Amino acid sequence: MRFIIEDGMLIPNNKLDNSLPISKIPTIPQPPLNPCFPFNPNLQQLLTGKQLLHDDLPFTFEEIHTHYQNGYITYRKGIEYSGKQPQCIRCGNKDPQWFAAFPCARCREICHYCRHCLMMGRISACTPLLGWSGPVPDTSLPAKIRAWQGTLSQGQMVASDHVVEAIQQNREHLVWAVCGAGKTEVLFSGIEAALATKKRICIATPRTDVVLELTPRLISAFPDIPIASLYGGSEDRHHYAPLTIATTHQLLRFYHAFDAIILDEVDAFPYTVEESLQHAAIQARKPISAMIYLTATPNEKWQRECRTGKRACTTIPARFHRHPLPVPKFVWCGNWQKQLQKNRLPANVIRWVNDRILANKQALVFFPHIPMMEKALTILRQLHPSLEAVHAEDPDRKNKVQKMRANEIPILLTTTILERGVTFPNIDVAVVGAEDSIFSESALVQIAGRAGRSKDYPDGLVTFFHYGKTEEMLKARKQIVSMNREGIAKGLLNP
Ligand SMILES: [Zn+2]
Ligand SMILES: [Zn+2]
Repeated sequence: MRFIIEDGMLIPNNKLDNSLPISKIPTIPQPPLNPCFPFNPNLQQLLTGKQLLHDDLPFTFEEIHTHYQNGYITYRKGIEYSGKQPQCIRCGNKDPQWFAAFPCARCREICHYCRHCLMMGRISACTPLLGWSGPVPDTSLPAKIRAWQGTLSQGQMVASDHVVEAIQQNREHLVWAVCGAGKTEVLFSGIEAALATKKRICIATPRTDVVLELTPRLISAFPDIPIASLYGGSEDRHHYAPLTIATTHQLLRFYHAFDAIILDEVDAFPYTVEESLQHAAIQARKPISAMIYLTATPNEKWQRECRTGKRACTTIPARFHRHPLPVPKFVWCGNWQKQLQKNRLPANVIRWVNDRILANKQALVFFPHIPMMEKALTILRQLHPSLEAVHAEDPDRKNKVQKMRANEIPILLTTTILERGVTFPNIDVAVVGAEDSIFSESALVQIAGRAGRSKDYPDGLVTFFHYGKTEEMLKARKQIVSMNREGIAKGLLNP
């Protein structure tokens, strides 16, 4: 696609002599809005708050361009150059390694494209990013927005009020809630407040599993509100919804869309390591908007900012059932890797597992790496044939988690894949090789947070077997102890 500028607007023109691909046009003109133009409401639904490629839209180029000429659609450059250096406007990628060039049939030049966000459709130097600048779709709201009638714990209530305030005042706020605090319920009043004032709100999370788990809970809390649930392969892509639940990846398709974004599990992979997802979350916000961060385990910098008052933050230091968090016990187990090479496990690890089998108490046992876990499985199966092991690439992963829930597996060995997001009511937890670098402070806090979650079984033992204590282990324990202390001080724990 190439354009010329005529009468203050872009005109498609494929003559090579005076036309340019969009990235080479210095400023892209935006025609004024023609209020008499009969715009296409389907296009409006699909494009409001988005940044899409023409290929994403089931409309002809003529129809789209007419909307641009009448001021309803914006064209932005997909790729911008600073000097010769390309930058992808959609995902923020600036790294030359992540760009490739090809002889492009559309602009008939050697055209750069971004490899980093290629899975969302190829964005190249001649690709416009399309947005909507007409009126937003009208959503009529039911008289009663929220159906959820539950009650909040004292700790949840304080956080809930702060979330409402931050959303109303377009501020940033962090909710630091311990594992099992019940953080989803903390959001309901804020979501209601946003919807009641016609704000568009999004809950974003790095993990698809969380989107799938949250969607039905939000549908039952807000049954009459249109909700879009977005993840790779979901079908809600073309809906305009006042309430959106999305993976952070899907936010790459949004631009200045939301009056409030709630970012759940900011500390989880891949959000923490992929700059493009952080770029996506910032772009998806309106310039004046609220941002609520939700986590059980903020990184060190954020923890410090919270303590020194630099970051607006509410902690929920106690679980909803008012019992303290289980504090991990450190147990030295010698050179367990060397033992495993000889097809043995440390005696205290075997005893720990066997005690639970005899007592009929389910447990999760975490290992740092798959091969060691598989070896340990062979050894531990001699104690009980129904033991299982699970990891990220395990095709049978969901089934095993189900069986664990149904109490058909006494002890489940796992990698960090089950460190968060799963709840088994009555389990003990062990880590074998807690000194491994994969077990960061936040991973260990999350792992410990698997125990004692149910109000019927609020206790659970957490044991870190190690071959030398690490800084991360100490920090994790300290964080848990200090949350319990804060819970007592604030009167959030049973005496
Ligand atoms: Zn990109
Ligand atoms: Zn091109």
